[in-house]
Amino acid sequence: MADQAYVTLATNDNYAKGAMVLGRSLRNHNTTKQLVVLIGPHVAEPCRAMLSSIYDEVCVVDILDSGDTAHLALMKRPELGVTFTKLHCWTLTHYTKCVFMDADTLVLSNIDELFEREELSAAPDPGWPDCFNSGVFVFKPSNETYLSLMTHCTEKGSFDGGDQGVLNSFFNTWSTADISKHLPFIYNLSSIAIYTYLPAFKQYGHEAKVVHFLGKVKPWNYSYDTQTGKVKGHTLTPGSGDLHPDFLVQWWNLYSSGVLPALRDSYGDTLFC
Ligand code: UDP
Ligand code: MN
Repeated sequence: MADQAYVTLATNDNYAKGAMVLGRSLRNHNTTKQLVVLIGPHVAEPCRAMLSSIYDEVCVVDILDSGDTAHLALMKRPELGVTFTKLHCWTLTHYTKCVFMDADTLVLSNIDELFEREELSAAPDPGWPDCFNSGVFVFKPSNETYLSLMTHCTEKGSFDGGDQGVLNSFFNTWSTADISKHLPFIYNLSSIAIYTYLPAFKQYGHEAKVVHFLGKVKPWNYSYDTQTGKVKGHTLTPGSGDLHPDFLVQWWNLYSSGVLPALRDSYGDTLFC
């Protein structure tokens, strides 16, 4: 479907690696939707080229150079810069419906059925389940919504300093109004939740469709031994705050088989990202 797309965001080369793996995982599970990545102006050329080979559209989003009022108002709030960039997805009005996915998510099976949902559909946040987690959400691009979001952003700010705070106060009836907008948790399984309720993970974890490497440490912060297929620097101790070893290995398998060889072919061993 040419008028429906998955959208992600990478403002730097590290998150670009995440976007490459996410894009590959969507392709591997035979999505019929378009793939769009919003990138920051500092993403290096080899990363852009790699992203272009995976995504249908690579849109450079420059949050610093613009002179329009929305940008200027936000520039007084530099901490909202990345937030702003994510909200930019509402301007993709050549699509009628989209699913936004954080660059630190990995798709484990086809999830195209998400496009049957309406704006704003998302899964509960594991830390405060009356809030939705903004790592995966269904939305409808609209310049009008975008402008309202910008106004909301500049007038009210963000209660958590990030996009999740803005989006939850903007779509503030999510928790009560319509249960069909609550995505099952398996569409946004955060690594954090695995260890806080291990029996539930044991019961339902095999049904996971999207894993979200939420938190400070991301898969690309580890390194990987291609000979042994093992992730280095991982303690493999559940509860240690580390990412789940199986999902981490899946991320690295995809990165080392589906992304690195092409980067090496094009740019040799001196990888820019
Ligand atoms: N992001 C980005 N550059 C940054 C920080 C975040 O491009 O420096 C994007 C990226 O798509 C990322 C999303 O914003 O997945 C949300 O940030 P993150 O995933 O780090 O937050 P968490 O899910 O850990 O709360
Ligand atoms: Mn995330």
